[in-house]
Amino acid sequence: MKNMINALIAMQKIDDEIVAKKHIKNQLPKRLKNLKDNVKITKDKVEKLKKDIDDNVVQQNLFEKEITSNKEKIAKYENQLLNIKTNKEYKALNNEISNLKNANSQIDEKIIKAMDKETDLNVEFNSAQTEAKEAQKKLNSEEDDLNKEIVQVDKDIAELKNQRKEIAIKNLPRQLIKRYGLLITNKAGKAVAFVEKNSCSGCGVNLRPQLIIEIEKGQKIISCENCGRLLVNKPKEDKEK
Ligand SMILES: [Zn+2]
Repeated sequence: MKNMINALIAMQKIDDEIVAKKHIKNQLPKRLKNLKDNVKITKDKVEKLKKDIDDNVVQQNLFEKEITSNKEKIAKYENQLLNIKTNKEYKALNNEISNLKNANSQIDEKIIKAMDKETDLNVEFNSAQTEAKEAQKKLNSEEDDLNKEIVQVDKDIAELKNQRKEIAIKNLPRQLIKRYGLLITNKAGKAVAFVEKNSCSGCGVNLRPQLIIEIEKGQKIISCENCGRLLVNKPKEDKEK
């Protein structure tokens, strides 16, 4: 019986380690995903800025074309001025010319603003490119390591499961192994509970004195009447902690 109890305690200890390893394993792909996400975000930023710069240049060209077309009109109107007969017509045409000149000086200002914006965008573009390169570099250097870690954790978990299986087969009857397995699955990874201050460490329920005496005797496997976990006394080395 003592062997069985010790085996249960050892198996629970292994299952606790498996839970910890699984937690690590779950974190590793997340780390990898974060690095990949960061590469995508920084690359998207570069693309977006590239498009903004292209749009800006297109806009500048449109402004230039507008200016050219206005200048052509101005030249045409100035030619027409020479043949104008009435004062009224002369005034109207002159007005038109001065409107076009005003429009052009306004467009000139827009071009200057667009050029300033282009300069800013280029600065942003360069720093975004640096950022994207760094993110890619970081991913490349860590990807291999992380993949190796994932493989290693899987190996560790398989090894722990083997250890647990060996202990179980060597020390426990088939029925008890099955019960242990069900408890691990259904009771949040804790099949074995300890008597702690006359309570079950698994669910906290107060234990009947008679039950505590029976656990103390260690002549049979006792289950918690509330949560069903296998109740044992804490091993001595743990008790001192
Ligand atoms: Zn309990």
